Amino acid sequence: MRVGIGLDTHRLAEGRPLLLGGIRVAHARGLVGHSDADVVLHATTDALLGAAGMGDIGDAYPDTDPAFAGADSSRFLTETLERLNRAGWRVVNLDVVILAQEPKLGPVKAAIRANLAALLGLAISDVNVKAKTGEHVGHIGRGEAIGCQVIALIEPQAESKD
Ligand code: MG
Repeated sequence: MRVGIGLDTHRLAEGRPLLLGGIRVAHARGLVGHSDADVVLHATTDALLGAAGMGDIGDAYPDTDPAFAGADSSRFLTETLERLNRAGWRVVNLDVVILAQEPKLGPVKAAIRANLAALLGLAISDVNVKAKTGEHVGHIGRGEAIGCQVIALIEPQAESKD
């Protein structure tokens, strides 16, 4: 088995939709980035790339490439999953921590969890989503940004129980 970690942060601004784990979350501000700026999908993609020793999301999807402007970040995750599968890996489980002072994520955690599981072909029980505030400290706590940390475990497909 191999483990990988992903970390991402994006700035919040008015006039942008807020997408977290591919779910549109109602909020006055959204995340700014070259793509749709979905921090959860970016950190998850990076965790999988890290576990497989495949570099990082910036290598695979440069933010200087116009092809990825406004991109739906679910594409980054599903293409990365295909790369892992071709290399003989399967995903075992994910643990996801979303860091946001606002909005309250309790009501959307289940939807984010279900969407991540669907994108990765995992059981809901193999994906965990937690939400933390920034306790009003730092860039997260002041509501300037939303961050996400993800740890992912992968194993060779031959060792799959199913
Ligand atoms: Mg990002």
